[in-house]
Amino acid sequence: MDSVRIEELVKILGNERSTVKYLFEKKISRDAVHCPFCNYTKFYLMGRKRIRCRRCRKDHDFLKPTWFGRLRISYAKWLLLIKLFEVGTSARTASSQAGIGYPAALKSYDIMRISILHQLARQKRILRGQIEADEAYFGGRRKGNRGRGARNKTIVFGILERGGRVYVSVVPNVSADTLSDQTVRKVRRGSIVYTDRWHGYDSLMFCGYKHLSVDHKYKFKSGKVYINGIEGFWSFAKERLIKHHGISPHKFLLYIKEMEWRYNNRKNNLFDLLIDYMLGAVKL
Ligand SMILES: [Zn+2]
Repeated sequence: MDSVRIEELVKILGNERSTVKYLFEKKISRDAVHCPFCNYTKFYLMGRKRIRCRRCRKDHDFLKPTWFGRLRISYAKWLLLIKLFEVGTSARTASSQAGIGYPAALKSYDIMRISILHQLARQKRILRGQIEADEAYFGGRRKGNRGRGARNKTIVFGILERGGRVYVSVVPNVSADTLSDQTVRKVRRGSIVYTDRWHGYDSLMFCGYKHLSVDHKYKFKSGKVYINGIEGFWSFAKERLIKHHGISPHKFLLYIKEMEWRYNNRKNNLFDLLIDYMLGAVKL
């Protein structure tokens, strides 16, 4: 699906009222908006983030309780930043393109990532059918052995449903307990799970799955036993994360879940999805 083109965005951002109008229409198509003073539901659109109640005539900022309210910048800047985030611009470049300070740009990006995380947490979908499972190591300079040598690296466990979605989680280690626990949470029993030969996956057959492992020593694909799907996701994520040189470990989850979201929505309109998430009420 096509996203909002820059040309259309320029029209929306043409003046304060048109920006408020755009966001107000998106908001009321999603949630009911009530006047905080008298509970009425009809408004005049004003500029400067404001709408005016048609009954009590008091103004309020209808996006204050949403993710937009988490950073004090104009809605025009917000829309610009959402567009820049959608197309993969770094926060550094976004700060100069949107004409705001780097800390504010960085914060706006984190707010978008948190809104994505909240959205993903609501999806309880279980993966099924033919599943590929694998782990990947992010960050840190040294290449180490699997498991033991993974110090200073963040370990990500990924599960991909063939022809469907990917799901990632940050894990403390790659033990059999950890890997089977993560699989059981997210994959329907009775599914076929393809992995490589790491012994941490051996217990999957005792957890109600048909487990088949790929031997990487043999480069040819033997029938359906391969994990190219999840490996494709790792390349997708690494290629995009590399430009964020040195993501602090406590923020890593936000970045890797963003990658999951981008991958699963690669055929969708990310701008519209982000606007929709950002319009959600913030419950901290
Ligand atoms: Zn009112």
